[in-house]
Amino acid sequence: MSTPAVDFAALDRYIHDHIRDWMEELGVLCAVPSVSARHEAIQPCAEAVADLLSRRGFKTSVTSVDGGHPVVLGHASAPDSARTMLFYNHYDVQPPEPLPLWESPPFELTERDGAVYARGAKDDKGELVARLAAIDALRAVMGGYPCQLTWLVEGEEEIGSPHLPAWIEKHRADVQADAAIWEEGQIDEDGRPIVRLGARGLLYVDLSVKTIARDAHSGAANLLPNAAWRMAWALASIKGPDGRIRIPGFYDAVRKPTPAEEAMLSRLPNTSENTRREFGLDRLLDGVTDVERAYFTPTANIAGIGAGYQGAGSKTVIPSQAMAKMDFRLVPDQDPIDILEKLREHLRAEGFDGVKIDVLAAQPPGLTDPDAPIVRLTAEVAGEVYGKPALIVPLTGGTTPMYPVHHPRRACGEPRRRLGFEESSPLAERVHEAGRFRERGQAHRQALGSLRGQMKGEGLDQSSPS
Ligand SMILES: [Zn+2]
Repeated sequence: MSTPAVDFAALDRYIHDHIRDWMEELGVLCAVPSVSARHEAIQPCAEAVADLLSRRGFKTSVTSVDGGHPVVLGHASAPDSARTMLFYNHYDVQPPEPLPLWESPPFELTERDGAVYARGAKDDKGELVARLAAIDALRAVMGGYPCQLTWLVEGEEEIGSPHLPAWIEKHRADVQADAAIWEEGQIDEDGRPIVRLGARGLLYVDLSVKTIARDAHSGAANLLPNAAWRMAWALASIKGPDGRIRIPGFYDAVRKPTPAEEAMLSRLPNTSENTRREFGLDRLLDGVTDVERAYFTPTANIAGIGAGYQGAGSKTVIPSQAMAKMDFRLVPDQDPIDILEKLREHLRAEGFDGVKIDVLAAQPPGLTDPDAPIVRLTAEVAGEVYGKPALIVPLTGGTTPMYPVHHPRRACGEPRRRLGFEESSPLAERVHEAGRFRERGQAHRQALGSLRGQMKGEGLDQSSPS
């Protein structure tokens, strides 16, 4: 592989000298409480992101479809390269609750003990700003970007990106790219960078049931149907204590890891002991002993459940209504719409047709071809920056909208990939230390630098099928 002529020392100096500027930008972004679940401060945050990109000369637009949260799209050209790299980030955040766990206000970027704290300071405003640092350094030191850059920043990632597929459908031509770098990444506890190639799919549903016209006194509990019982039975019909999901046909489309995925899995360290210890368990659920391999198994999770009286003391009541929130993490080659149909049919067949299903998110799993040249390149660059060989992980437990970005243009070039260099985020959004931030800026900068040659055509064969 050819080594591009990049003055890394000068890039390092630039990043070192300007770190405060990006921290300030991060502080401004984190101050906007863009909680997508509550549709809060969404427009102002989209505009703030667009402003950050415009200021850097990106041609920027803020658009939405069907009342969804706006998507910020930026494009910067590079005279020396016809190749395009797509960055995916999101500007929305999870709700900050529970508030008592925060030592400083969640929307006020606060530095302490060499780390910065705020909701979104890591996921995903921090990564966004780290990329800004990378491209600023490239522009200042190299006089431009190594390839064309398309930047897609959405505002619904934390609620399952419900409008993104329709938005992409409408803007297909604008998101054409040869490769994509996804929102984030990790280094493991031994400092090894992790390159993740895929994400599980998701079906998220609200279940609700109403059994009687109004709550009633429990003296009538043998006369009137109780909504809480009804919901409990419906939920119990979905998954058994043996961990098996009981929806007929649920596992039909699940495939085993391919030989290439198997090879990747066999090279990964086993983290099950750490997970077990972190959560204070004697053993992981259903006897899991290999965390990464377990991500190839789908899930049925109750995310929330509610009915009846939950205050202090007693209230003798028959609840008339009950609700539950469920998410199903889906694996290759499951399809969320197919699973939804099967869930509906299952509830009907079990006599729970009174249980109403509202779909909050439906997303197929997203995968990258492990043999794509960009994967090897990414791993090499990451290994170089961190001084340790990168771990390549075929599938992540969570979900991110890789599929709609990748899928419409399978034919056009490299598959999408997910890359970043990031500490994992433990409870209460303990975020990147300033040093880590610097490192991440450096990693993104070097990734871009190394891609300079590659994106000109020395490493990526544009005509190769994906
Ligand atoms: Zn995120």
